[in-house]
Amino acid sequence: MRVRFAPSPTGFLHIGGLRTALYNYLLAKKHGGTFVLRIEDTDRSRFVADAEQDILDMMTWAGIEYDEGPGREGDVGPYRQSERSARYAEVAQQLIASGNAYIAFDDDAALEALRERHRSAENPNPRYDHTTRGEMANSLTLSADEVAARLDAGEPHVVRLKVVPGNAVSFTDAIRGNVTFESGTIDDQVLIKSDGLPTYHLANIVDDHDMGITHVIRGEEWLPSTPKHILLYEAMGWTAPAMAHLPLILSPTGGKLSKRNAEKQGIPVSVHQYVEQGYEPAALVNFLALLGWNPGDEREMFSLEALSGAFSLERVGQSGVQFDLNKLRWFNEQWLRERTNEDIAGQLHEAASERFGDVELSYLAQAISMMKERMSFAEDLFEADYLFQAPETYDEKAVAKRWKESSSGALKGFAGRLDQLEDWTEEALEAALNGFIEDEGIGMGAIMFPLRMSLSGVGGGPSLYSLMQLIGKEETLSRIETALDRLG
Ligand code: GLU
Repeated sequence: MRVRFAPSPTGFLHIGGLRTALYNYLLAKKHGGTFVLRIEDTDRSRFVADAEQDILDMMTWAGIEYDEGPGREGDVGPYRQSERSARYAEVAQQLIASGNAYIAFDDDAALEALRERHRSAENPNPRYDHTTRGEMANSLTLSADEVAARLDAGEPHVVRLKVVPGNAVSFTDAIRGNVTFESGTIDDQVLIKSDGLPTYHLANIVDDHDMGITHVIRGEEWLPSTPKHILLYEAMGWTAPAMAHLPLILSPTGGKLSKRNAEKQGIPVSVHQYVEQGYEPAALVNFLALLGWNPGDEREMFSLEALSGAFSLERVGQSGVQFDLNKLRWFNEQWLRERTNEDIAGQLHEAASERFGDVELSYLAQAISMMKERMSFAEDLFEADYLFQAPETYDEKAVAKRWKESSSGALKGFAGRLDQLEDWTEEALEAALNGFIEDEGIGMGAIMFPLRMSLSGVGGGPSLYSLMQLIGKEETLSRIETALDRLG
């Protein structure tokens, strides 16, 4: 099995592109096949210089490594179409020679005139096809001498596929089953443009053939192109690879998840935006895997490795799948919890030290262990800045509502006990607090609230025993003193 991901470097890698890459990768892994990355950069008008690097970086970030491709040469390179032009021209010549393609000289004005002539209510978009090519300036209508003369004079021209009407063009799609198109509905697709470069259709089939691709797995938007490809394979006498078209990714409100409607709903479309927003690669991979595929049971958590074992095209659905950002967030929480505290601490160390002055790695890891269950993203830790520094303000609303006259007294009394405490562990702190409320005959809340306010400045958060243990005795007493000064 040889599969490929064949992105065009026309912009940053799209979330749907990453899913296509992932499914190809998973299939190769499952079957011990080869995953090829091919850069389809023949459309120079839409070429974006940084796009290829972005594609490579994002795949690396997601852990989707290719076996062959730019920088990882196998036997069938080069892996950029711009470096393979001679081969496309050669195949185009063969197609002309075998009568499956022809040369056409029509300029933009002639093409527009064709559309004008035939445009009607039933035919709003007249095409260059078997019904109209007889009216045009091409090697089917002009004499051989005239064609030669025009070519000699350097007249701009394209090469078109000659589609014969009246045939059923069929293929079996691994996801959709039998798909048939009537050949008469297919236009005489341009294969070589006037700049001498191939179109997507020609370059794509030549490379899939020459690179020994056995399975083409790509988005549903390419389904209408497939009959053209099948005709080209037939014209060349080549066996077409197996085909599988992945279901569309839909917006939560229905319809295709276009760039525009995604942005409207706050859904990032470029993979690098997910990186910037701090998503876990494992979470995005897990989420994308289930955006079209299902394991057939209730399981949801899948690492890349687990997916490589479980994935199959049989369990990829046909109908579009809705993008659910809340679900992705849930996956992020789960995958964040799978990481060790030390690992996350390593990631956050530099940023933590920048914000809060020198923070020790072990301190950071301890803070993370307290907060992990409450975090959706690693960087969420910094929202609890009281883990690293004394609160500068106290939640006014909570104070107005819950800081009673008795609060200061209770806090003072408890601070006295803490001062005496030698064993500064969570257990000892908890015992001290319980002893205090019992002796004073007060409720838990009467001390918990003022204590929490003085230590963190906010009404909710992790266990206070853990927090006191983390920041230490001196800092705990100092924060209480400050709060008594300011709120007392
Ligand atoms: N270059 C096409 C793209 O940008 C590839 C489609 C295919 O996989 O055949 O998606």
